[in-house]
Order: sequence, then C-alpha cells, then structure tokens
Amino acid sequence: MLIHIGIDDTDSPNGMCTTYLGALLYKEISRLAEPIDLPKLIRLNPNVPYKTRGNGAVAMSFEADEEDIPKIKALVLERVKELADFSHENTNPGIAFLEGNIPKELEDFTFRAIREHVSIGEAEKVAKDINAEIHKFKCGRGIIGALAAIGHPLKVFTYELLAYRKRKLWGKERKVKAESVFEMDKKFYPFTYDNVDWEKKSVLITPRGKDPVLAGIRGIDKNKVLLAFESLIFEEPIEFLQIFKTNQSTDDHLKFKQIKDLRNFDSVIVRGKVVKAYWEVGRHVFFKISDGTGELRVAAYEPTKRFRKYVRELIEGDEIIAAGGVKEFEGELTLNLEKFYVVSLAKKIEYKKPKCPKCGGTMKSKGDYLKCKKCGHKMPKVLIPVEVPRKLERKIYEVPPDARRHLSRPLVLPLGEEKILDMLNL
Ligand SMILES: [Zn+2]
Repeated sequence: MLIHIGIDDTDSPNGMCTTYLGALLYKEISRLAEPIDLPKLIRLNPNVPYKTRGNGAVAMSFEADEEDIPKIKALVLERVKELADFSHENTNPGIAFLEGNIPKELEDFTFRAIREHVSIGEAEKVAKDINAEIHKFKCGRGIIGALAAIGHPLKVFTYELLAYRKRKLWGKERKVKAESVFEMDKKFYPFTYDNVDWEKKSVLITPRGKDPVLAGIRGIDKNKVLLAFESLIFEEPIEFLQIFKTNQSTDDHLKFKQIKDLRNFDSVIVRGKVVKAYWEVGRHVFFKISDGTGELRVAAYEPTKRFRKYVRELIEGDEIIAAGGVKEFEGELTLNLEKFYVVSLAKKIEYKKPKCPKCGGTMKSKGDYLKCKKCGHKMPKVLIPVEVPRKLERKIYEVPPDARRHLSRPLVLPLGEEKILDMLNL
C-alpha cells in the first residue's frame, strides 16, 4: 500500500525546522517501510504574509504493509507533537496522510498554493474530496503545505543537501571554514550554486537563525552535491544529513498574468512597457509599467543591492518582461521584482549644447542664449538632440543570490531563462 505523508509549519524563528522533523521521520519510517524516493522539500508561494522562514513543506512516500500504516501515522503525530514549536504564534502545524495514487485534483491545488493565496478552508475541502486524512494543530494552517507537498509531481526539480547540528549547539555560531566553501564553489559551480557571494565575499550555505540546519548545499546533480559537501571543512560535529528533492530554483511560482487580473500575494510574470522611469523612496527604487490592461508599480527594494542599478537604466518606452511577487505596498499593488528581461529598448535622447560655430569652443548657457567661453560669440539657445547609447542589453537581469527567492531559478542553471523567454511568444 502506497502511503504519502506531508508536514508543514512546524518551525519558528526560535529553533525548529520542518526539514529537520521531516528528515528524522524519513529515517525512522524507512525502518518500517520502503521509501519510494528521497523526501520532497516543497517551497510554497513566497508572497503569503504569514509564511514561516522559507515557507517550505516536506512530503515523503512509502510502500508499506497495510498493518504498519497505523504505526507510521502514530509515529508522525508523535514526532510533530514532540518537536514542533507550538509556542510561536505563527507556527500552526499541519499533517496530511494520503493512501494510493495522487489525484489530479491535488496536483492542481499544489500549484495554486505555490502561485496564489489559498485558505485553510480550501485545503480542507480538497482533503475531503480526495479522501486525505488531515491533522491540524492550533489553527492548522500547515495542512495547506502538507497537502501541497504530497501533490507536487516534481517533474522539474533540484536537490538540496541539508546537514543538521547537534542539539546542544542550536543557537550557537556555525563553525564552517569559509575558505573551504569558496574552494568548493570554484570546483562545483554551477552544479552546486548559491554557495557564496563572490562580490561580497560572503558564505551563503549557512543560515543565521537558531534552527538545527548547519548548512545547505543546492545543486542539480545529486552526486556532485554530496561530493561538494564532503569537501567542506566543519569545525563542529554533524548530527546527520539528508538530501531532499525540491522545487527550489524551478520558477514554479511564476505564472503569466495581465495587470488587470493581478491580486495581492500572486507570484507572476507580466509583460509591459515602462510608462514612468525610476524614482526612489529611501533606498528603494520604483518604476511603472503598463500592458494595456492596467498600470503596475514595480519595486526593486534595498536588499536587491546592485540589481537596482539596472532598474535605474530603464526609461519610458522600454518593453520588459518582469517576474516577481505582487504585494500591496502603501495601498497600491506593487510587483517586488525578482528578475526582468529586456524585450526592446527605446531610443534615449539627450539635448546637448552645440559647439561654437566660429571657433569650435564650448558654449555656456546664459538665459535664453548661448555664449562661447573662448571667443565670446553669442547665439540663440538651440539645443541639439543626441542619441545616447543604452547601458542595458537584451537579456535577463536577476537579483543577487542572497536576495533571491528559494523558488526563483538562477540564470546559470540549464533552462534558467526558459520561463521568462516563453513569454516572448505570447
Ligand atoms: Zn567661439
């Protein structure tokens, strides 16, 4: 008998992590039943307001003897009760069990949970329709992710190896030799990626919080991910490690929409023309696009750092394809930009003063006439339009790795541009 188990929303900033709980359960259940594949780590819509840190749910599937299924379910419930952080107000664990094959209806629900905003009620309805067993703790919001993780077919996927820490070290500084991470990146990039930020000289594989994760290595090749991990030098013991199959870096969350159809918390791709070049509020950079169905404010917020310099190069008339999350900001729907592709660039014209017709000297503005600095020649102020070269190219610009969403596909990966460039055919 095939049994699928989904868990979500057990973590909190104070120290638990759903992947840890999932990895422990995967090991324990593997003693009772035959795992069908690696456990799945499924990232849901990064835009929903009450998400836990990475908004990641875990699911796993086993072939089990019918009489062992109650034992497996009891074990899952026991571990969640024991380890989930019930004290945090935003931690609302959910568990789902499903026996047999995965119905299409659940797969459809999964993609809605990744791209839009779904309610607990909708999850309950799907569970009832497909005969899944759900367990809610507190408000039980975790059943959304628990069901969605079970329903993900992972036709496109990447891997993440997660190494966990000894319990007594949780909350303490993570001890990994930074040089070994840079060496690893040189050797294994892009088969593993997001290991370091070369520009900032920072290590990205170690999280900052109190959770049990020591390090996470992302990649597209399972063996290289493992070899990359083995090449690292840690100065603390490792509790255990687990490789997950995941929808991270797949652009799973992005769906094409017209501006008029956008709703708060959608993750989308839109295509439109710049109708208002950038302006800044604090360190955030904004501009406006229109697709003929409506206008949309687009934002490159401060944490996107050097990405903002490309946004400042966009001018009125440029056509772009923009991807990101829609969120209300100061009462207006705003696209939080993850990446954009330049479809076409408008001509950039600047008006410049002519050279002196008498001596070739530089002219200076004096009210509504021009005066030569060298020979004093005066003439009416007539400026000459000059086309200036554009600094943008016809390519995709993306935010730096530490500002990137888990789901956003880095351009360096195979098919990294596919989802965006598909929009060119619309
Ligand atoms: Zn002159």
